[in-house]
Amino acid sequence: MKSPTHICKSCFCNFNEGSFHSLFNSPTLCNKCLKEYNPIFKKFKIENIEALAIYEYEGKVKENIFIFKGCGDYELKDTFLSSFVTDLRVMFWNFVILPAPSSEESNLKRGFNHVKEIFSILGLPMYEIFKKISNHKQSNLSYLERQKVNKVLSIYNGEIIKNKNVLIVDDICTTGATLKALISLIKPFNPKQIKVLVIAKRDMSEDEINKIKNSHEIL
Ligand SMILES: [Zn+2]
Repeated sequence: MKSPTHICKSCFCNFNEGSFHSLFNSPTLCNKCLKEYNPIFKKFKIENIEALAIYEYEGKVKENIFIFKGCGDYELKDTFLSSFVTDLRVMFWNFVILPAPSSEESNLKRGFNHVKEIFSILGLPMYEIFKKISNHKQSNLSYLERQKVNKVLSIYNGEIIKNKNVLIVDDICTTGATLKALISLIKPFNPKQIKVLVIAKRDMSEDEINKIKNSHEIL
């Protein structure tokens, strides 16, 4: 049986993906690009909450997150998860997804909410209960300002997660400040279980963290 030909959404080559895995997933990346994305499935903790990152924030995946999110290249949206849809659906079959918010202003500029678009491929129920009040670009913030990020995040309709298994999802985890803020927003609504899934984890050395802590960067 000849396997169908796909077009890689990252390098645009034609590829045949005849593996057993592809019977259940519709790949959007050729093997070469998937290797360059370098999935690591790294487990970590945010306070006491179990978190999982699919990739390290570097190389091709970093570049494509930027092109997708910063330049609005919508075609890249499925490339981050398409190879792992079945695995992730099994892992989180009884969870509802809570996408980390981005501001209305950024969504309008981009034409879509990038976090929601990336994770919609999983086909799990998604509740958009988080809102971001103003545009608050993390990369422009000093460490102390990042700690204050919860001031601009809020929750609506929190009651709907009572007794539910919730999966908070985001694209990049750097200091974890946003995710921590989201976790503390949902805790009062008594979800049954909280887990976190991110596309990429940015690992910073002690030095880098201290540099950020000591910087007096102004907004
Ligand atoms: Zn490719």
